[in-house]
Amino acid sequence: MINRNQFQRNGTVYLVGAGPGDPDLITLRGINTIKKSQVLIYDRLVNPDLLSYAPVNSERIYVGKRPGKPSVSQEQINGIIVAKAKEGKVVVRLKGGDPFVFGRGGEECEALAKEKIPFEIVPGISSALAAPAYAGIPVTHRGKARSFTVVTGYTRDKKDLFKNWQHIAHADTLVVLMGMKNLELIVTQLVLLGRKPETPVAIVEKASYKNQITITGTLETIIDKAQYLTPPATIIIGELASMADTLAWFTEPVDVDINKETEIQSAVVG
Ligand code: SAH
Repeated sequence: MINRNQFQRNGTVYLVGAGPGDPDLITLRGINTIKKSQVLIYDRLVNPDLLSYAPVNSERIYVGKRPGKPSVSQEQINGIIVAKAKEGKVVVRLKGGDPFVFGRGGEECEALAKEKIPFEIVPGISSALAAPAYAGIPVTHRGKARSFTVVTGYTRDKKDLFKNWQHIAHADTLVVLMGMKNLELIVTQLVLLGRKPETPVAIVEKASYKNQITITGTLETIIDKAQYLTPPATIIIGELASMADTLAWFTEPVDVDINKETEIQSAVVG
């Protein structure tokens, strides 16, 4: 049982989901916590526009990847959050999407709980939902998909990548995060496990940003079509993925001709 009185000297840590990119997609509670932050610790996938809500004297600490420099390890991040909270500061830990969806938010909470530092989670709109939504792909649809599954397409140890995929491969709608590096392996594995090669696939790059790009294809064609995409991107597999072709409302899906070099550009619908 957590007794709040025992924490009095420590500051509270807010683990806040920043949403997928468009700064309007953070929650009101998320904004309100940033506004009262004394320390703001943020990642690479957080839209930097959100930092402007922090008080001018709030300390900003970037812990995302830095090209060409050693990245800050999870242990170091945990250490920074704990140390700042122990100084009695209001700490906001801002993460892309939702803090508990592949955001290592659970590990940070464990570190805080161990030190008896109070924390609060402010959920965010995960790219797992926002990427399909911004591409016009419902993740469920009456009569077509009764469930959706979200899985990582990257594991530290490659042998864990396809653990339990006999089930995962047959999800009505399969949403893969962090899957671009292993796209070829993933597509091959899905077909091996019995998914039809003509199964629709959509990939949404930079969902909710003005330069969002959606490409559509099938398990058979997507590897060639996806070769010009860059991270972050979310992969959606299943019958509903083809709905991007009719329900796109934000940017037009790009029709990549795999026989020609296509220059991919984002195009706004309308
Ligand atoms: N906590 C985050 C996910 C972190 S894992 C969330 O809930 O969204 C990082 C992966 O998220 C990326 O590899 C990519 O697959 C996906 N992602 C994050 N931002 C995205 C965006 N704007 N568009 C498409 N995919 C995105």
